[in-house]
Amino acid sequence: MRRANGVGLAAPQVGVQLRIVVIEVPAGHESHDHTHWDWNSTQIFRLVNPMITYLGEYADLREGCLSLPGFTTTVPRAGCVSVKATRLDGTPLRIDARGLLAQALQHEIDHLDGRLVSDRVGSILAMRQVPPPWITNPTEQSRRPTETTPSLKDQKPGSIPSA
Ligand SMILES: [Zn+2]
Repeated sequence: MRRANGVGLAAPQVGVQLRIVVIEVPAGHESHDHTHWDWNSTQIFRLVNPMITYLGEYADLREGCLSLPGFTTTVPRAGCVSVKATRLDGTPLRIDARGLLAQALQHEIDHLDGRLVSDRVGSILAMRQVPPPWITNPTEQSRRPTETTPSLKDQKPGSIPSA
């Protein structure tokens, strides 16, 4: 997930049929404005059986998906959500989220329900294909994922979050 600049991953994405997700968001994630995000300080959520209990007003937000690399789209997502879940140690948890965390929670819970972001917009054909940065700008070669790249901290402002 980190190597691919992802902010979230659901167990089914890696072939594990459990209702578990992991989400890592930067400080300042309450905003959809990436200029508020600080990738040097992140917060990690490991959630079992997360369920949305409240959805706020919807807005069109850009996002990608680690299961559909190279594609992004604009998808309606609630700007704030409440989620109940269980921590890995079995204790209950309630999250009231907004901004990037709210978006990631909705995206990952979609995965648990067998839904991809492409299903939200009709099909992958409705998504925009975005070449990796090292293709469009050779100076971005250093951002190409490698096995040792902790990519979240390398995420540049303006990057489209994938999960
Ligand atoms: Zn995804």
